[in-house]
Amino acid sequence: MIQDRIYNPQMECMDPEVRRKLQGERLRATVALEYANVPLYRERMDKAGIKPEDIHSMDDLKYLPFTEKTDLRDEFPFGLLASPKSEIVRIQGSSGTTGKPIVSGYTQNDVEVWTEMVARALSAAGCTREDIVQVCYGYGLFTGGLGLHQGASQIGAMTIPMSSGNTQRQIMMMRDLGSTILCCTPSYATYLGETIREMGLVPGKDIKLKAGIFGAEPWSDEMRARIEELLGIDAMDIYGLTEIAGPGVAFECKAKHGMHINEDHVVAEIINPATGEQLPYGTAGELVFTTISKTGQPMLRYRTHDICMLQNDPCPCGRTTVRMGRITGRTDDMLIIRGVNVFPSQIESVLVGINGVAPHYMLVVDRVNSSDTLEVKVELTEEMFSSDTVAHIEGISRQIADQIKSVVGIAAKVSLVPPKSIPRSEGKAKRIIDNRKI
Ligand code: AMP
Ligand code: ZN
Repeated sequence: MIQDRIYNPQMECMDPEVRRKLQGERLRATVALEYANVPLYRERMDKAGIKPEDIHSMDDLKYLPFTEKTDLRDEFPFGLLASPKSEIVRIQGSSGTTGKPIVSGYTQNDVEVWTEMVARALSAAGCTREDIVQVCYGYGLFTGGLGLHQGASQIGAMTIPMSSGNTQRQIMMMRDLGSTILCCTPSYATYLGETIREMGLVPGKDIKLKAGIFGAEPWSDEMRARIEELLGIDAMDIYGLTEIAGPGVAFECKAKHGMHINEDHVVAEIINPATGEQLPYGTAGELVFTTISKTGQPMLRYRTHDICMLQNDPCPCGRTTVRMGRITGRTDDMLIIRGVNVFPSQIESVLVGINGVAPHYMLVVDRVNSSDTLEVKVELTEEMFSSDTVAHIEGISRQIADQIKSVVGIAAKVSLVPPKSIPRSEGKAKRIIDNRKI
């Protein structure tokens, strides 16, 4: 069993009343900063008839307007910065709903805040400076790689920036260097575990892992049990999103009963997605975050579209922060495929630019050997179907696959199907078949 360590007991175990006051102060400062420097927030607050002086405490959070992913798209790239560009030291990004990513600018302060949030998560998984942390999340615009890397370095652990892919090499390094903590997506952890077993390696003997921090996509307790058994470790959940900070927004402690939200930096609400009204603890709804210590691109009431519930009953670990349950779904049509956010609208934007195919498509997602697969079925037009050569049609599929790879960032199998073979629906088109069991 891992030893749960509390990285910052003062903040993580603070009296909730005292924390709420601190949150109120930080919220006021954030709102003032946004109102002064970000036209979008100023216009929205003016429209709602709210001035920064009207925000006194956390009780007033509910009066602030929401923000959405579309705001990041419309204000791309720098329209939501609340600090001068010269103060921004880092850009991270993630898929948007169309071809362009959404980006978030971090000041040095923001990078430090994020780093500490990850350090808290790693500590809860037992990480100390004696540990060897293998980071197999992708490094780059995606927050996973750099996020875990920074947190592990802050703790002073030996950090191995493997990035994603190349399973044989991952396992070789894990074995030779004696990695003790693994950071990747839960589906990749399963795949690594299965491959390790197939290679005849024995966890505990050849592989020294003791814990893993897995996130970036939804998973279940069944999947946790499988990973723990395959790798002989404690498997912990970590949650985050680019718009707010990246991984570390919330993390599990040894109790593995909800993820502690780093509430001195981010405030969570659950709302009814249809009405926007706040819902009480223990009720599932849409998760909304407000950052209260970021200065680069702070976000007020950002609607994540993730569905979960919050709980504030005491946790045996001693942390007093509110916990979020597992993400049980989405209020929009975003899919997470191999850890990458995929919107059907991105695929559609590729298809409308291609001659010879009709805008009728279906996305079929599955999980084969612990790895997600995406098949895009697209109808050929009548003309193309009746007149064209096989070589030409193959060229079209390749073109579509290449463009999907460049727009969405993941490989897809493209199947061109005869006209009118994809079922039409009378209401909202059903474009996704997700056969994964998590
Ligand atoms: P990104 O900004 O690309 O890191 O994607 C953020 C999204 O990934 C979140 O809004 C969630 O939908 C999903 N996500 C991240 N971590 C988790 C997790 N631990 N469990 C379920 N979904 C997650
Ligand atoms: Zn706890």
